[in-house]
Amino acid sequence: MSELAGYSAVITGGGRGIGAAAAVALAEAGATVSVASRNEGQVVDVAAELRQQGHEAFAFRCDVTEPYQVRDLALSAIEAMGRIDILVNNAGTATSNPITRITDAEWHHIMDVNATGTFLCTQAVWAGMSERRWGRIINVASVAGLGGGKYISAYTAAKHAVVGFTRAMAEEAVGTGITVNAVCPGYVDTPLTDETIARIMHHTGTSKHEALASLLEQAGQPRLIRAAEVAQAIVGLCHVGVPAPNGELVVLDGLGSQ
Ligand code: NAD
Repeated sequence: MSELAGYSAVITGGGRGIGAAAAVALAEAGATVSVASRNEGQVVDVAAELRQQGHEAFAFRCDVTEPYQVRDLALSAIEAMGRIDILVNNAGTATSNPITRITDAEWHHIMDVNATGTFLCTQAVWAGMSERRWGRIINVASVAGLGGGKYISAYTAAKHAVVGFTRAMAEEAVGTGITVNAVCPGYVDTPLTDETIARIMHHTGTSKHEALASLLEQAGQPRLIRAAEVAQAIVGLCHVGVPAPNGELVVLDGLGSQ
C-alpha cells in the first residue's frame, strides 16, 4: 500500500504509543514522516527505526504548548521534507482526580497539551496547506471528547475542546482543499493507559489485572484497543482521493470485530 507516496506528515507526540504507531502506519502507506515530541530521545529512536526499514523519517524535539517551538517544528519539518501535507495532532496527556484535588497547574497543563497544542500546530501548518490547496489534519481526541467520566473532568474538558475545534475547523476548511477530522478512541494499550492502571492500583490496592478489568468495565469496553487500530483509522482519514472525509469523528471503542 503506497497511497501516500510523495506526501509528507508531521506527527506530534510521536515517540511512543498512538503517535509512534501512526508514524509507522503513515510511513508504511508511503509518506515521509517527521515525528515530534517533547521527549527527543523517543522520537530519535522511532525515526531511526523507520529509516532502518527503508522509510524516510525525521525527528524533532517540540513541546506543543510552546508557540515558538511549534513554529520551529513547522520550519524544520518543511526544510527536511519540502512541505507538510498531513498533520496528526496526537500529543496529549491525562490525569485523573476528583474535582477537589485538581490543582490550577494540572488543569492548565491538561488544557495546554491537548487543546492549545492542537490549535498551535494547526495554525502553524494552515497557511502552507491553503496555498497548495491540499492538507489533511487529524486530531487525536478521545471518547472523553464526546461523553463524560468520573475523575477525568480536566481531560474530558480538554478533549471536548479538541472535538469542538475539529468541528469548527472542518467548516473553515470547506473549499480550501484541507480536511479536518478526529479519531476518538476509548482506552488504548499504550504507556499512558499503563500509567492510569498504575494509579488505580495505587489508590485501590488492587492487582494490575483487577485494575484493568475495572477500567474497562467503567468505560464499557470489552478490551483495550491496539495503537495500530487507531493508526489505521488515522491513515484512513488521510484519503487522497475525493470525496475525502471532513468533520468526521471516528470512534474506536473496541466493540467492533478487530
Ligand atoms: P503516551 O503518553 O503513550 O504518548 C504521548 C506522547 O506525547 C509521548 O511521546 C509524549 O512525550 C508526548 N507528549 C506529551 N506531552 C507533550 C507535549 N507537551 N509536547 C509534545 N509532545 C508531548 O500517550 P498515548 O496513549 O499514545 O496517547 C496519544 C494521544 O491519544 C493523546 O492525545 C491521548 O490523549 C489520546 N488518547 C489516548 C488514549 C489511551 O487510552 N491511551 C485514549 C484516547 C485518546
